[in-house]
Amino acid sequence: MKNECSIVGDLLALWMDGLVSGDTAAFVEEHLDRCPACHARMEQLRAPAAPQAAAQEARAFRDFAARWNKKRRRILAAFAALALAAALLAACLFSSAVFGTANFVSAAAGLARVTLLNEPWAEIAREPKVVLAAPETDLTDYMAARGFAENEQERMGALRVFEKDGAKEYVLCSVNRWFARWVW
Ligand SMILES: [Zn+2]
Repeated sequence: MKNECSIVGDLLALWMDGLVSGDTAAFVEEHLDRCPACHARMEQLRAPAAPQAAAQEARAFRDFAARWNKKRRRILAAFAALALAAALLAACLFSSAVFGTANFVSAAAGLARVTLLNEPWAEIAREPKVVLAAPETDLTDYMAARGFAENEQERMGALRVFEKDGAKEYVLCSVNRWFARWVW
């Protein structure tokens, strides 16, 4: 019955809040029992809207948090990559300035061998050749082991000259507290 449906529709909210008289309540309930359309409408009104909204909000927040986390991870990764690149660049510049080689790893390994393991010398680069040695190590010994003899007359300060069968090698020597550096 259409007319009855519209009356029940008007009363539904009041009935749900318990604000109708006993007769009206009985009328509404009796109608709801036999009218699927109004019953469905009542169910809809009764469905807790607030928790649904809260759930939706929670979901939205979770999505946002996930997106933000992903973004933050990307930002952190970018920063880490930048920091690593900067550190490597600094290490290379340091390596280049102090040891005469762009290879920081080999310079550090060579320095460790010479200073920590007390090896007499360590070659840390090939082109140009760079050798690190303990500060007190004599370059003459190193060259003698390779069959070279020093030509004292041709020595020019830190640049020393060695000969073997007419071939000459020029070695630039410098030394500090921790190591000697020989560059060919
Ligand atoms: Zn109805």
